[in-house]
Amino acid sequence: MIKLYNTLTRQKEEFKTINDKEVTFYSCGPTVYWYAHIGNLRAYVFADLLKKTLEYNGYKVRHAMNITDVGHLTSDSDTGEDKMEKAKKREGKNAWEIAKFYEAAFFMDTDRLNIARPTITCRATDHIKEQISLVTALEEKGYTYRIEDGIYFDTSKLSDYGKLARLDIEGLKAGARIELVPGKKNPTDFALWKFSPKDAQRDMEWDSPWGIGFPGWHIECSAMSMHHLGNHFDIHTGGVDHIPVHHTNEIAQSESATGEQFVNYWLHNEFVNFKDVKMSKSSGDILTLDVLINSGYSPMDYRYLLLMSHYRSQVTFSLEAMDNVKNTLERLKRHVVELRKSGTGKINEAYVTKFVEKMNDDLSTPEALSVMWEMVRDDSISSSDKYATLLDFDKILSLGIAEMQEEKVELTPDEQALVEKRDKARAEKDWKTSDEIRDELKKRGLQLLDTPEGTKVEQA
Ligand code: AMP
Ligand code: ZN
Repeated sequence: MIKLYNTLTRQKEEFKTINDKEVTFYSCGPTVYWYAHIGNLRAYVFADLLKKTLEYNGYKVRHAMNITDVGHLTSDSDTGEDKMEKAKKREGKNAWEIAKFYEAAFFMDTDRLNIARPTITCRATDHIKEQISLVTALEEKGYTYRIEDGIYFDTSKLSDYGKLARLDIEGLKAGARIELVPGKKNPTDFALWKFSPKDAQRDMEWDSPWGIGFPGWHIECSAMSMHHLGNHFDIHTGGVDHIPVHHTNEIAQSESATGEQFVNYWLHNEFVNFKDVKMSKSSGDILTLDVLINSGYSPMDYRYLLLMSHYRSQVTFSLEAMDNVKNTLERLKRHVVELRKSGTGKINEAYVTKFVEKMNDDLSTPEALSVMWEMVRDDSISSSDKYATLLDFDKILSLGIAEMQEEKVELTPDEQALVEKRDKARAEKDWKTSDEIRDELKKRGLQLLDTPEGTKVEQA
């Protein structure tokens, strides 16, 4: 039995599918106007763990994920610039080029984190027709109104608006500043279709029954998820920040249009907090996977760090935590390399049962990792069986057990001298020289790791 915590009911529930053996699953994808920061990447590691746990249990998973390449404004309340248009000014490229570039960068990150690609990846700009149809359906049912800057959804028409977030509608009304969008009737109303500015041409705009413009951010997820998975599907995921606005509005639009329940299970990952690092994708100042790699950590170190916390707990990111994880993974690697020498034996069913129980209990990865370590240290199991069992766990954990190798790097005397020169520079806090040497060694295919035991050299 799989139990999942459903934000809709605020309870762990037994998971039951709508169709017999296929799970329909939608996860909110990236807005491709800038690199994903490592906090964003947690949302996709979480979706990956969920999907792989379901697959491990024998389900086929039809997983759709959107690419938000239009319509996401710098403020969630329908004001501000389109994030793509803002990036355009920053980079001097057109919005289409920007979207293409950051979509590729996103998948490069998720591939490096061993996140399986979705069954269906859908771009908002490829589904304008579906979004217009959905707005039309809402209009026919009387849920919309037109104001100066676009077509809006009237949330007061729904008695259960805000049920996911348990919003206090009266409280929101009292404290609201609706005048931000002139003509908006209720503070929770949101744009379904926005008109292009009269005095400027956007790179991304389309004709519609209401005039030239572009879709709102929320409508894309409703339109694409229902198009690819049906009006009523099993699971929808995203970060906790999506609960009060984005997912609340997806439910409002979809259920008003179809008259059916939209999604059975809503699952949300908590945030990664950055104690010392100021992080915000919109300010441009962000910690990316590349930054981590350049600081000597591997994508698997970061994946392991995330696995160490339950997805509904916050993770506090720090370099100390990364150093600890790096050491732990290094230890695991040493075990794996040693165990593999005995070949691949049989999967240990008792440990697999224990492991799966933890994963099936709302994806309890910290406990699943404990089971893994308990198995690795259990003297009653042969090395070859341990290796086979680790490979089996890795179908979900995806730490790259099969690829783990001991890295022995032979340095030339010249390279050895550079490493020593850098150690000296670091001791003298001469970061400039230290960085220059690190870059020079990187050009030669060598990666330096600053560990508590001193500098280690790996193949870059
Ligand atoms: P975006 O590309 O901005 O639409 O965000 C992508 C995903 O990252 C969404 O599911 C967000 O909820 C999630 N997210 C944003 N910031 C964080 C964070 N610091 N930690 C974890 N998830 C986040
Ligand atoms: Zn979404």
